[in-house]
Amino acid sequence: MARPASAPAPDQWRRVSTFARDWYVQEWLLLFFAVGMLLFIYLVAKHESELERSEIVRDAALIEQSIARRLDADQLFLDRLALDLGEDRFSPQEFDRITSSRAIESGYITEILRIKPNLDVVRHAPAINSLEIVRRNRAPFGDQIRMSSITEKTSKSTYSQPFRSDSGRFFIEYAAPIFSQTRFDGTINAVISFELLMQRAAPDWAHTKYRLILRDSDGSGMTDAEQVQIEENSYQHTIPLSLPWRDLSLTLIGAKPPTLLPNLTLSSAVIALTALMVWTLISLRKQQRMRQLAEIERDRVYMRSISSLKETNDRFETVLDSLDVSVYVSELANNQILFANARLRETFPGVSVGQDARAFEDGFVAAPTARYPTAQLLRGEAMPGEVFIDELEHRASHRFFLMRTRAVRWVDGRMARLTTLGDVTDRVQAERIRQAQQEKLTRTSRLMSIGEIASTLAHEINQPLAAIANYVNGSIRRLRGSGTADAAVIGAMEKAEAQVARAGAIISRVRDFVRTREPERRRIDINELVTETARLLESDEESRALAIPLELDRSLPHVFADKIMIEQVLLNLLRNAREAMQHLPSAKRIAIVRTEQRGDGMVAVRVFDRGSGISPDAATQLFSPFFTTKSEGMGMGLNICRSLIEYHEGRLTFEDNTGGGTIFQFTLPIDEGQE
Ligand code: ADP
Repeated sequence: MARPASAPAPDQWRRVSTFARDWYVQEWLLLFFAVGMLLFIYLVAKHESELERSEIVRDAALIEQSIARRLDADQLFLDRLALDLGEDRFSPQEFDRITSSRAIESGYITEILRIKPNLDVVRHAPAINSLEIVRRNRAPFGDQIRMSSITEKTSKSTYSQPFRSDSGRFFIEYAAPIFSQTRFDGTINAVISFELLMQRAAPDWAHTKYRLILRDSDGSGMTDAEQVQIEENSYQHTIPLSLPWRDLSLTLIGAKPPTLLPNLTLSSAVIALTALMVWTLISLRKQQRMRQLAEIERDRVYMRSISSLKETNDRFETVLDSLDVSVYVSELANNQILFANARLRETFPGVSVGQDARAFEDGFVAAPTARYPTAQLLRGEAMPGEVFIDELEHRASHRFFLMRTRAVRWVDGRMARLTTLGDVTDRVQAERIRQAQQEKLTRTSRLMSIGEIASTLAHEINQPLAAIANYVNGSIRRLRGSGTADAAVIGAMEKAEAQVARAGAIISRVRDFVRTREPERRRIDINELVTETARLLESDEESRALAIPLELDRSLPHVFADKIMIEQVLLNLLRNAREAMQHLPSAKRIAIVRTEQRGDGMVAVRVFDRGSGISPDAATQLFSPFFTTKSEGMGMGLNICRSLIEYHEGRLTFEDNTGGGTIFQFTLPIDEGQE
């Protein structure tokens, strides 16, 4: 019936998959962006590091040039000095002054020495140490012999091998040969400190930008010896120095380490932007996800409420459908049926939602038991809360329904009529049967009581009547026997005797009329009954004067009646007719008996006479017991006849015969077996 609340609807699945797809698209975009940014940073860094590398290479070349230029100048100076000394142009004081100032100016020439061919130092400048100390310090220096001999042989200046002093510092010596005329007169040597050379010969900017390390061919440092160990990945560049001595290299170590983040500001900006974007995306994603979850939750709640609504509706319909009462709701405005329960659809096939309720309701008529005007009910002039109840008969099925209708507000706000139809056929039929039985009981008991009264009367009165007759008879006989009696007395006595005889006759007639017996209703041919009764009466001597023409409907159905009772009724009506026509000449005493079928399932028997007619005064009490206009009448005939006919569910009526006389009519029900 209802889908479990946990299973999302197809719609929900679609949303979830869209959500997932969106998620992946955005993630990929973010990934591409991040990779792109990293690549960008990497390329920028690479570019910058290449820039720096080319800069350091350029700087190294500049530094080398600067050093080489200074050394060239120094060589030139020393070579010139050697020439001047060979030509003996200086006094020793002048030599000291020039060389001292040169050494001090250069900043890296620690000593300038005048050395004789026998390697003896004869002068030195600047005179920081005494000549004795200088001479002693030079003792271990073995390269001077080679230098001296090379310069002597080649007449060219030369450099020594770099060497290390006792203090651990590295030096190199430059020797320029002195020739006095053509005689080799020793050399002028300049001792150059590598450390100071680096400090002074390199341009000032080089020191602010780099740490400069001079290294031997085997890699050992010749300046800044204690810090020769250089951190890995440091920002550095090494170039071989093209100096006139053996292979040295110059290493420039950058003031800042090389990094992949060369431009911190740019990188940080990019990174910050990326981070911001990532953060934005993540928070957006969070929001989106929360929204999606809220939507899913809302959907779930919606689905749950839909399913609970459906359950409620199902419950409601199940209850309505299992009712034994037909229920429908129709719109007040246009009578359209909005709802019909299963019972209604079963009971009245063809009725369905959307139809006109009025057409359906027209199939009903007010039942005999109806208590309210049906028209008002069906007009639907109901206001909310008002209930109309009526008992209706369904024309097609002949079943009875108790209809209750009331105005209600339908679920969408429209005014509607809620109508229930409960089948009360059984009750109505039971009521009918009960009523019929009641009527029958009443009639029978009345009949019985009339019969009983009549026979009791006959019995009780017959005795005294017989006694009176005997006494009167005896008295008359005695009076006649005595022969003295007055003829008038005898005449009166004879009249009394006649009256007594008449009273006895009346009583026996009543007793004959209403015999105390159970009525026996059968299927009888009414035409036959009429014919026999008329013949009986015509054969009666007293009635010879009455003609009874019959007008019988030969196609009449049989009736359901007690033959003897109906004969008595017809006999009584014909006798009354004859008596009413007593004053007419015998040829005109005609009572027509006509039989005919009526539309309401009854057969009528009509007796037409041309008698005295019934005055309006008499008409009001015609059926009252003991009402008679005849001197010898008893006034019980019509009363008993009506009881007998009503016992048969018929009616006994009379009307004036046009042109004089009266028409009496009684009806009897057609035998149902014939219908
Ligand atoms: P009864 O015949 O003994 O008088 P009924 O009950 O038969 O008693 O009749 C009651 C009265 O109704 C009669 O006395 C008579 O006046 C009147 N009546 C009955 N039948 C007719 C008729 N066919 N024409 C005129 N009057 C009639």
